[in-house]
Amino acid sequence: MTTEAQVLHDKQTNYLWYGILLIIISTLIALMISAYIRKKVLVPIFSMKSDAQAIAGGNYKTRCNVSVENEVGALGESLNSMADSIEIQIEELQKLASVDELVGISNRRSFMNSLELEIERSHRYGRPLSALMMDIDNFKSFNDSYGHHIGDEILKLICHVSQKALRDNDLMGRFGGEEFTVMFPETNIDSAIIVAERIRSAVEDSALTYNSEKLHVTVSIGATQLVKDEDSNAFLKRADKAMYLSKENGRNQTSWL
Ligand code: GH3
Ligand code: MG
Ligand code: MG
Repeated sequence: MTTEAQVLHDKQTNYLWYGILLIIISTLIALMISAYIRKKVLVPIFSMKSDAQAIAGGNYKTRCNVSVENEVGALGESLNSMADSIEIQIEELQKLASVDELVGISNRRSFMNSLELEIERSHRYGRPLSALMMDIDNFKSFNDSYGHHIGDEILKLICHVSQKALRDNDLMGRFGGEEFTVMFPETNIDSAIIVAERIRSAVEDSALTYNSEKLHVTVSIGATQLVKDEDSNAFLKRADKAMYLSKENGRNQTSWL
């Protein structure tokens, strides 16, 4: 081989190596870029997709794990703040749907839901459960004398006073216009009567000041204890019957059946 041919051959070999090196470097760069895109974009997007589907499916406590600092991370943060406001609004709606708007305690539907659960628990574990029905005495004539608006204030006062007489696990609900129910988990009739009397006397001792006059009302209460295999309907009917005994016997008292 001539010298010229040898030089040309060496050059070709060098170009070939340069080419191979270039291909290796490009492949490495492509691999690094694809690993970066996978870690910083694709994996977060797929995880966000399943988080968004969970939120859309009603799992409002789900949040995206936003660990990347790029547009995808910003998208995750936006999704999280959207989920925050959905959760707050749903909690507010649930509260509105379960709380009586005048007196601020459980409404009948919410009370009954809690009672059903407590009845089931009581039957399953053989634990005592008691309840009372309470009705304001002569409230119609109170409204007629002082007006519906002052009647509303009395309803609020009675709820406030009664709740102060309850224990942590007791639950009070507004059953109807001026009728209230209280359930006493883990409580037999003897203890329920003691709490019922505490409520009754607290109501009797409380007063609403109106035009420098102190306005009073009293309540009649019926208490009862859940019996074996009984449902909520029969349970509350007996409490109501006991409450009517208190009415018949002169009001402002507690009866039990
Ligand atoms: P009793 O001692 O037999 O229970 O007599 P009462 O007058 O309390 O009973 P009645 O059922 O005849 O009247 C209940 C009254 O409660 C009539 C109604 O105007 C009043 N009431 C019901 N809901 C509300 C309310 O939200 N606000 C006010 N101010 N009054 C209410
Ligand atoms: Mg009534
Ligand atoms: Mg009444």
